[in-house]
Amino acid sequence: MDLVMFGPPGAGKGTQARRLVEAHKIPQLSTGAMMREERKSGSDLGARFDSYMSEGKLVPDKMVLELIEKRLRQDDAKGGAIFDGFPRTVPQAEALDIVLKSLGRKVDGVVVLDVPENEIVERITGRRVDAAGQEYHVRYNPPPPGVEVTQRADDNEETVKTRFRVYQEKTEPVLEYYKKSGTIVHLIEGTGSLDDITQRIQDALRG
Ligand code: AMP
Repeated sequence: MDLVMFGPPGAGKGTQARRLVEAHKIPQLSTGAMMREERKSGSDLGARFDSYMSEGKLVPDKMVLELIEKRLRQDDAKGGAIFDGFPRTVPQAEALDIVLKSLGRKVDGVVVLDVPENEIVERITGRRVDAAGQEYHVRYNPPPPGVEVTQRADDNEETVKTRFRVYQEKTEPVLEYYKKSGTIVHLIEGTGSLDDITQRIQDALRG
């Protein structure tokens, strides 16, 4: 199964994708996480990613697609993947269709996490992450005592505003692309407890 997690920054795509990984035994492919890893390694490529990420701008399609194509060739992604934070532009969605087609696959569904705009900023500015990439929220899902957490460099109010604007301009049209192409789109209410949201997604996927 190939599934696209869709929604604005802070909608819970990564958190819910991680939960689906366990249930469906397919990997989570998060372009943002891959770029953060590359940045951490101190490579030139990582520094190029950072020049866009730190401002809340999109990394150019060509660079993103190289990353995804390489990742899709790895063994664990042979049976499908959960795409998180990708595709973020219509050209990325078109390219994903072509790559999956060459592998005899297609996007089987798009899970849209619907969260009101006024909740987004609070969610993102309260977001914290531990060394393993596990995400928490200072109020809604605090880290257990003793777990050291940090804040993502791009989770400040200024950058969040840019990321949200970029989402509306560049990423929202991707949903129209999928609807037009006849891909199944599951609209999921993205508010409430994490377990409730996971349950809604699982129910929708079971159809
Ligand atoms: P995320 O972890 O999905 O919130 O992504 C963090 C940042 O990484 C974004 O604000 C972009 O700068 C960059 N990024 C992640 N995924 C993509 C993508 N598919 N296309 C372009 N830029 C991306």
